[in-house]
Amino acid sequence: MNKATSKIFKEFSHEKFPSAVVNQTIREVKSKKKNQNTKSFKKLWCCFNNQNLKVEKAGDFYTVSFPTLEKRTGVPVVARPYQQEWLERILNGTVKQGASELYRKKGKWYIAISITFEVEQRKEPKVMGIDLGLKYIAVASVGTKSWFFKGNQVAFVRRRFAAKRKKLGKSKKLSAIKKSKNKESRWMKDQNHKISRQIIDHALANGVGIIRMEDLTDIRNRAKSKKEAGRNLHSWSFHQLKKMIKYKAEMAGIRFELVKPDYTSQTCKCGHREKANRNGIQFRCKKCGYTCHADLNGAINIAKAISGLAA
Ligand SMILES: [Zn+2]
Repeated sequence: MNKATSKIFKEFSHEKFPSAVVNQTIREVKSKKKNQNTKSFKKLWCCFNNQNLKVEKAGDFYTVSFPTLEKRTGVPVVARPYQQEWLERILNGTVKQGASELYRKKGKWYIAISITFEVEQRKEPKVMGIDLGLKYIAVASVGTKSWFFKGNQVAFVRRRFAAKRKKLGKSKKLSAIKKSKNKESRWMKDQNHKISRQIIDHALANGVGIIRMEDLTDIRNRAKSKKEAGRNLHSWSFHQLKKMIKYKAEMAGIRFELVKPDYTSQTCKCGHREKANRNGIQFRCKKCGYTCHADLNGAINIAKAISGLAA
């Protein structure tokens, strides 16, 4: 018996779980242990296979139930709207429920349920380009259509959180600062969920089969412009938004591609490329005089993948 396994047995020995649950947990830990160091287990969890954990709904409330030695125990769960959608799909059988984990994090209990389902690749020919920025968090373009997702309110709320923390900092209320940071993260995550959902909805309504975004993995090394420096500052939320767009696209059967970010902001549709084409939020071609919102011009160039797809 290895270290992780015996630790789990010890933790479970005074709990009232049937051996099926303990065994499932040990199987999961063993398979995870192959990929990571034992020391990295900071939280303990127990695992259920799809037969042991049952999702149910009573009125507006969702419950999950699992077996203990004495009886099945049902607990109500708090679910956000996007999580409710998936719970509904488990209930109506359009997704297949896999293994689940019950774990505790910062004094709260969570249940993570894995699901699988088939996605049919969309054959629509149109390409959507998405540019991330500061004035507008995201600009999406498909052919002649475009959508701007405002960042103003986001910036405002984040400034308010930062100001509050600065005030707290002076009185050294560290736990309050941490709480404020967590609250901001949750708020931002919620915003990103909404924006990514809207983007995918526009894509689906406009015959999009491919979504393209810039590959900004090495942005740190080339943060020259103000826009890119700003992106750095908020990189975790941009990264989060991008990840959400990617998985929501793929779940909808839309192919997700990364393009090389070179020259997307300074190239005109006439082909002329010059740094001076772009001035803040305005794009104006020095050669042909074409004008456009700079972020939209970026989104159009991203859709075209003017510098090619990222490797
Ligand atoms: Zn031009």
